[in-house]
Amino acid sequence: MQSVDLRSDTVTTPTAAMRRAMADAEVGDDVFGDDPTVNRLEGLVAEMLGTEASLFLPSGTQSNLVALLCHCGRGDEYIVGDAAHTYGYEGGGASVLGSIQPQVVPVADDGTLPVDAVERVVKPVDPHFARTRLVSVENTIGGRALPLGYLPDLRVSVDRHGLALHLDGARLMNAAVHHGVAAVDITRHVDTVSLCLSKGLGAPVGSVLAGPSDFVAEARRWRKVVGGGMRQAGIIAAAGIVALTDHVERLADDHANATRLAEGLGQIPGVEDVACHTNMVFARFPAPAQAVLVDELASRGVKVLAAPAPAVVRFVTHLDVDSAGIDHALASMAEICQIHR
Ligand SMILES: *Cc1c(COP(=O)(O)O)cnc(C)c1O
Repeated sequence: MQSVDLRSDTVTTPTAAMRRAMADAEVGDDVFGDDPTVNRLEGLVAEMLGTEASLFLPSGTQSNLVALLCHCGRGDEYIVGDAAHTYGYEGGGASVLGSIQPQVVPVADDGTLPVDAVERVVKPVDPHFARTRLVSVENTIGGRALPLGYLPDLRVSVDRHGLALHLDGARLMNAAVHHGVAAVDITRHVDTVSLCLSKGLGAPVGSVLAGPSDFVAEARRWRKVVGGGMRQAGIIAAAGIVALTDHVERLADDHANATRLAEGLGQIPGVEDVACHTNMVFARFPAPAQAVLVDELASRGVKVLAAPAPAVVRFVTHLDVDSAGIDHALASMAEICQIHR
C-alpha cells in the first residue's frame, strides 16, 4: 500500500548522505570540547545565525529550557505566547526546573505577540511582582512565518524595558525560506536563538542554541546540569551539518507541496477552512468526526494528526513527502469525504 506520513516534519529518517557523514565523522569527547564535528557544527550555526557562538543539544525542548535557565533566575518571569511550544508543550520545564514564571500573552492571527500586549504585562520593579526578564517568541509558529517588520519593532520595545529577547526558531529556516531572506536577517533582532535540526531539515537528532559567547558558556553549564552533555556526539552532529548544508533551500519544495495539498483539499466537497502556512496545512472537516477521519486516513496509509481545534486536521510536509504522497493524501481525502457525505 502506498503511504505518506504527514503527522510532523520530525518523522524524516536520515538520508544516505547523512548516514555516510555519520559513519565517517571524526569524533571526540564533547564534554571536554574535543569533538571536532560538534565544534564544526557549532561554528557553522554561529556563522549562519550571526552569533558569536552556539551549543549543540539533544533536543529543542532542552535547548529552550537551557535558554530560559540562562536568561532567568528563580522568581523571574518570561513573556510568552499562549500557543508557544515553550509554554505549552515542554512539560512546564522552566517552572518545574527553574522556578521561572510564564506571563502569557495571546498569540495574534499573524503569529505575533502584539507589542502593546507585551508592554502591558511588563512588571514594574516592586516586591509584589515577579521580575520580568525576557520575551520569548516563536518563528515559525503553527507554520506561520512572523512578518519581517515585527521583530525590529519588538526589539525597540524590549530594549526600552531592559529585557532580553529569545527566539524559539525550531523552524526558523522555514521562515527564512518563506520570506526569501537569510536566517541572519531574522536573527539579528534577537539575543538568542534555538534551532531544531530534526524538524524539516531532516537530521535524526539535535538542536542548536546560539547567542553571545558568555551566554553560550553559561548554556554549556546548564546543559550539563540538565543531563545534556554528550560524549562522541559528532556522530549525530555530522547529520546536522549535512542538514544545514543541503536541506535549507529545499524547504521551498515542502512549502510548494503544502500549497498544492491545501489547494487540492479546498476543492474537495465537505472540506472547510483550509489554511496553509509554510509546510503546514490545517483543514476543517465537519464530517466524519475527527477521530474517525484520522483512522480512515491511516487505514489508507495516510498518517495525520488531529489538531487541538475541533474537527481540524493538521498535515505537515517534509523531506520524505513527495508529489506522489500529496496525490495519495488528496485521493484518500476525497474518497473518505465522498463516503461520509
Ligand atoms: C519541536 C519543537 C520544539 C522542541 O523540539 P524537540 O526536539 O521536539 O524537543 C520547540 N519549539 C518548537 C516550535 C517546536 O516545533
